[in-house]
Amino acid sequence: MELKYTRKNVYKEADGKQLEEIYAFAEGYKAFLDASKTERDASVTAKKLAEENGFKPFSFSEKLKAGDKRYFINRYKNVFLIKVGTENVAKDGVRIMVAHVDSPRLDLKPNPLYEEAGLCYLKTHYYGGIKKYQWTATPLALHGVAVLRGGERVEICVGEDENDPIFYITDLLPHLAAEQSTKPLGKAIDGESLNAVVGGLPAVDGDEEENKEAVKNAILKLLNKKYGITEIDLQCSELCFVPAGRARDVGFDGALISAYGHDDKVCAYPEMKAIFDCNSPHTVVAVFADKEEVGSVGNTGMQSKVISDVIETIANSFNANPIEVRYNSKCISADVTAGYDPAYPSAFEKRNSTFVSCGAAVSKYTGARGKSSTNDASAEFMGWIRDIFEDNGVFWQTGELGAVDVGGGGTVAQFISNLGIDTVDVGVPVLSMHAPYELISKADVYALYQACLAFCK
Ligand code: MN
Ligand code: MN
Repeated sequence: MELKYTRKNVYKEADGKQLEEIYAFAEGYKAFLDASKTERDASVTAKKLAEENGFKPFSFSEKLKAGDKRYFINRYKNVFLIKVGTENVAKDGVRIMVAHVDSPRLDLKPNPLYEEAGLCYLKTHYYGGIKKYQWTATPLALHGVAVLRGGERVEICVGEDENDPIFYITDLLPHLAAEQSTKPLGKAIDGESLNAVVGGLPAVDGDEEENKEAVKNAILKLLNKKYGITEIDLQCSELCFVPAGRARDVGFDGALISAYGHDDKVCAYPEMKAIFDCNSPHTVVAVFADKEEVGSVGNTGMQSKVISDVIETIANSFNANPIEVRYNSKCISADVTAGYDPAYPSAFEKRNSTFVSCGAAVSKYTGARGKSSTNDASAEFMGWIRDIFEDNGVFWQTGELGAVDVGGGGTVAQFISNLGIDTVDVGVPVLSMHAPYELISKADVYALYQACLAFCK
C-alpha cells in the first residue's frame, strides 16, 4: 500500500511495447483529425468508420437485441454509436461516453460576400471562445454545406488539398500598429474585422454597372460554375473558416501533436475506438455532440432530448422502464481540460492541475466562481471510476481547470447528470486550448482510450 500519492508520467512508466502502441494510436488519431475538422466532417468520418466496424443505421421504432451495433446521425452533426450488450439494461443501465466534435472557428454571416478596394471578402461571425488576434495572418480553409432552391445540398471544402487556394484575414503591419499595440489583447482585433479575402480577379466585360463590383461578380460566377450556387444560397448555408493546416508531430521526439480541434476530437476519437474495440456485456453508447462550444443548445446539442430518446428506445426494446435504465446508467463526459502550462504558472494551482503526458485527466467538477454551473461527481462515483481505472492499469490523474477565480469552463457533464445519470469528466490535458493549433501529448490520447475501454468493460 502506498501512503503517498504521486502523479506519474506515462512516458516514464511505459515499456517499449506500450510506447510503440502510443505512437501507433497517434497515427490513427491524426488521420481522424485531418478528416474531421467540423462536426459535419466528424459525422461523415464516424459513419464511415462505424460501417467498416459492422454498425448499421438506427431507427427509433426498432426493437434492439443483444449484439446489435447501430449508428444514428442526428441532422448531419451529432452522432450516436450504440452497441447492445447482454446485461439486463434495467439493472445495468447504459455506459455512455460523450465527446463533442464542434470546435471554435469563424462561421460565415448570412450575407457574407462583398467587395472593397479591389478585393472580395467573406464576412464572419466567430463561433465559440476565440482569441481573435490568433485568426489573422494564418491560412484558412472553408468547410460546410449550402442548400440550393429545391433542397439540393452542396458540400464545400476548399483549402485542405495541397493544390487548393487558402483564405486569409489580414492584420495591420507593425509599422502602422502603434495605436493597435497599446490596446488590450481582447480589443486589438475587432470582431467585425474578421473578414477573409476570397478573391482579387475582376471580371471586366465592358458593362459599366457590372464593373462596379467586378471582383465580387467574378467570384459569384466562379461559385455558380463550380457549385451551382447563387448569392442567396449563402443565406441557406453553414459554412465556416477553420485553420487550413494538418495535424503535426511536435518536438524532436514527436511526443506531442499540434492540430486544430483537439478540443474535443482528442476525446471523440478514443471513445469511438473504444466502442469499436470493446468486447463488453454492457450496453455502450458513444456520442459525438454538437454545439458544446456555444452552450450545448439546439437539437444537436446535449441539452436536447435526443439522448433520452435513444436511451428510451434501448429500454423499450427490452420492455424495461426507461427511467430505471437512465438512473442506472453511467457516463464519462469526455472533454479536454487545461493542462498546466509552465509559461503561464499564475493561471494554475500546481497541486491541482493536470499535466501533459500524465494520463487521462479526471475532473470531479469544472465550473467557475465557486464551482458554479458544473456537474460535481459524487465521492461514490469517483470511487467507482478510480477502481475501474486502477484495476485496468489506466494511466490517469486528476485536477481542476485553472486556479480558483482565474476563470473556468464547462462541459456537457452537467446536462447528462441532469438526467439522473452518474457522470464524471474524463479527458485530455491541452495546452493553448481554443487556439488555431492546440497542443496535446500522444501519451494522453492513448491513456484516454485505455480509460474508455476500461469504462466499457
Ligand atoms: Mn471541449
Ligand atoms: Mn472548448
